[in-house]
Amino acid sequence: MGCIFCNIAEKKLPAKIIFEDEHVVAFEDINPQAPVHILIIPKKHISTILDLKEEDNNLVAHIVKIANKIANDKGIAQRGFRVVTNCNPESGQSVYHIHFHVLGGRHMHWPPG
Ligand code: 5GP
Ligand code: ZN
Repeated sequence: MGCIFCNIAEKKLPAKIIFEDEHVVAFEDINPQAPVHILIIPKKHISTILDLKEEDNNLVAHIVKIANKIANDKGIAQRGFRVVTNCNPESGQSVYHIHFHVLGGRHMHWPPG
């Protein structure tokens, strides 16, 4: 019941959390698609990036900053990494609480699948 990522943020569901502050939680993806695959979520429930409001501007900027920090901490910043957010069904969004995938540690292909 309820939102799986809200439950992770509230520690009602376990996750391998690698970073947390007042606004966000970052944890390892349960089904990693690359040697580094971290999800960054806001603690506040927002379903998709289409639902972001003006008041969330600082939150989004903060998430980008945390993505950079994670890439640096994981040693993939200079090699290269990807930050991805899927929005709505055709993108493959499967959890409707916004999350930013930080992927790296292997060569990334383009176009994406
Ligand atoms: P989406 O497909 O919505 O962009 O990404 C959802 C991601 O959440 C997927 O990569 C999936 O593996 C991950 N995921 C789904 N459920 C869980 C969970 O319970 N724990 C963790 N750590 N990751 C999850
Ligand atoms: Zn949620």
